[in-house]
Amino acid sequence: MRIMNRREFSCTAFGGTTLVLARALRVAASADKYDLLIRGGRVIDPAGRLDAIRDVAISAGRIAGVESNVTASSTNTVDAHGKLVVPGLLDIHTHAGRSAESPNLLLKDGVTGWIDAGTQGADHIGDVVAIARSSPQQGRVLINIGRAGLLSEGDTMDLARADVNAARDAITKNREYIVGVKARLSRDVAGQNDYEVLRRAKEVAKSFNLPVMIHMGQTMSPLPKLLALLQRGDIVTHMFAPPPNSIIDDNGRILPEVLAARSRGVWFDVGNGVTGHMRWDVVEAIMKQKFLPDTISTDWNMNSPTTGVIDLPNCMSKLLNYGMSINQAVACATIHASRTFSVFRNRGTLKVGAPADIALLDLREGKFEYVDNFSNKITGNQRLFPGGTVLAGKWIPRT
Ligand SMILES: [Zn+2]
Repeated sequence: MRIMNRREFSCTAFGGTTLVLARALRVAASADKYDLLIRGGRVIDPAGRLDAIRDVAISAGRIAGVESNVTASSTNTVDAHGKLVVPGLLDIHTHAGRSAESPNLLLKDGVTGWIDAGTQGADHIGDVVAIARSSPQQGRVLINIGRAGLLSEGDTMDLARADVNAARDAITKNREYIVGVKARLSRDVAGQNDYEVLRRAKEVAKSFNLPVMIHMGQTMSPLPKLLALLQRGDIVTHMFAPPPNSIIDDNGRILPEVLAARSRGVWFDVGNGVTGHMRWDVVEAIMKQKFLPDTISTDWNMNSPTTGVIDLPNCMSKLLNYGMSINQAVACATIHASRTFSVFRNRGTLKVGAPADIALLDLREGKFEYVDNFSNKITGNQRLFPGGTVLAGKWIPRT
């Protein structure tokens, strides 16, 4: 990606400058109308129903104009011809809070806002909060109802770990960064405690008016019993998980309780991940019934670049093979995601006045292999690649 700085250009053109000339150049630079211009890309902003070749002008960290030909000067220009220019991506299910390097790696993927979904519980919540606090982009945390966080023997296999008071204390102390409660309910995580674990997670969340995100799939309790506890604003992640206790019945039909949950305002999220969360035949059955995800998320961690997850643009690309349009996939990772957590409320769009968070994506044609969580492979003919990010008006190259 080529970027030219007006001041550098002037210095190159005039060689050594006198003090007077240097001052004149400074004045010229400060007189630029815009700080940054993203020129000539295919701008997709589902919130504004826009899909067209446009220039995007940025001033003081905000979107200043989206027009077919911006002629005013800008301090920096990025040539986006042949690229998609979309709102900064919001990934609502990551484990970015596991390591201090994660936020910057996500930023290079185009992710300008992330949620850590339950890496830690009350005992070590300070670790993830510290990473969210120092993240260059907005990072927030869902507290695991299991007080010890993710455990290989199962977060809440010992029900005593689903400690309501410990979770409440942790939220009270970190109110700014904890935006919800995570309840992982699979058989190997909660065993037969799934329903009670979720009931406690809801009890905690309710006292702060926060949402709960459930990790569904392969639960002991039937999914309808668990869904009955969810209310408007709660999130179901791993929506493509295969049986037992998938969102479809034995005949492949979406369960009526799932449709009812969606109609009362429960969100359904992808949560790609690597183990047990996604199988192509289940994806196909669900997508065929037009039960599209509300949000696309990765379940990202530091290993993701070398697994089937890779990055959020790759996870978005997978659904293009099941009838989702580019615009719909972009909406899932931008404007839809912005509605799930209030911290993202004014994000996910390129409307004038919005914070200038932008992802450039490269939509390539060819043969691309996509793998589910069960080593099944499909081949698609399109894939989105990250192509640079703008965060608060500042250009961050991909490499
Ligand atoms: Zn996860």
